[in-house]
Amino acid sequence: MTIDLTRLPASPLTDALGRPLRSLRISVTDRCNMRCRYCMPEDSYVWLPRESILSFEEIQRLVGIFADLGVQKLRLTGGEPLLRHDLSTLVSLLRSQEGITDLALTTNGILLARHAGELKAAGLRRVTVSLDTLRPNRMAEFARSERHADILDGISAARQAGLGIKLNAVVIRGYNDDELLDLIEYGHSVGAEVRFIEYMDVGGATGWSQDQVVSRAEILQLLEQRYGPVRAVRESDWAPAERFMLADATRVGIIASTTAPFCRTCDRSRLTADGTWLLCLYGETGLDLREALRTGRTDQEIAGEIADTWRARTDRGAEERAAVPSRGILYQLESLRADPRREMHTRGG
Ligand code: SAM
Ligand code: SF4
Ligand code: SF4
Repeated sequence: MTIDLTRLPASPLTDALGRPLRSLRISVTDRCNMRCRYCMPEDSYVWLPRESILSFEEIQRLVGIFADLGVQKLRLTGGEPLLRHDLSTLVSLLRSQEGITDLALTTNGILLARHAGELKAAGLRRVTVSLDTLRPNRMAEFARSERHADILDGISAARQAGLGIKLNAVVIRGYNDDELLDLIEYGHSVGAEVRFIEYMDVGGATGWSQDQVVSRAEILQLLEQRYGPVRAVRESDWAPAERFMLADATRVGIIASTTAPFCRTCDRSRLTADGTWLLCLYGETGLDLREALRTGRTDQEIAGEIADTWRARTDRGAEERAAVPSRGILYQLESLRADPRREMHTRGG
């Protein structure tokens, strides 16, 4: 598929704040086999209707359009993306898309051991596994899953398959804030960089409160106490994680979305599993691309709508939230039930 470039900007498409459209997170399902308290704390959810979920061909078509508009980086996420049947077929479809230089997957790792080999064979190079704790009993209580050992097996299998691995840990006071050093040591033992994420008040984080957030500053202090001086490693200005090097050369990332948001360099947008395109993790509404696909609009027309929407983008959700005095939870449960697209497991994190 090729779009008539005379209708599109010759230079990179940028939003109203000068940020390029470069990175797309694709949620392939809103279902999940875990119930992390910061994301899906409830017993029951309003799921997206099955018939609304984009097929692989629909995702591929949209990715082609986005790539022609400048998107280079894709991340498959969810819900739990490995619950989507035959995900490696989608990987191979997207891998061969011209213009896409980076394709990654974020997973809770429970099903990774089963799929690591086929994902690698399909062309996946990197995987991010969410691992908040090394203690199975903590995970059982916090995320209502007994499958901690499966996650560790998944990490080993990914390593064996030759996939690059990063580990994501959301740090929550009173849950896992005494495990940061253990997680770094574990990461070191499996050749994976650990990224600590500040607890955010997004989507289903209905139990969020400021006092549970372990800030970037606190995390750095802890690391310095244990490892001595920590050096900032300068990388791309567009990456969400700040990277640091410990005295023993181990690298660690911190994603300070709550206390030091990085909206001014945000080149990311999100596609929900039902084809709603969101311009910000905190975005209230999105552009319905499923409708556009299923009502026979041409690639050219869809590209025009995407470009116009991006040009008008002014979203700075996390920065705006950080400026709210006496910040509390963002959404009440009823509001999440009324619009499941506000859920973190629907928009992909
Ligand atoms: N299920 C997969 C997983 O957990 O890796 C992919 C989807 S999950 C929504 C993507 C990422 O969002 C995970 O790393 C998760 O830890 C993070 N996340 C979810 N809720 C969060 C919150 N309230 N604050 C910060 N990160 C959160
Ligand atoms: Fe946890 Fe990811 Fe599932 Fe959310 S989508 S409950 S973060 S495993
Ligand atoms: Fe980007 Fe929105 Fe996150 Fe800010 S809050 S970094 S604008 S997705």
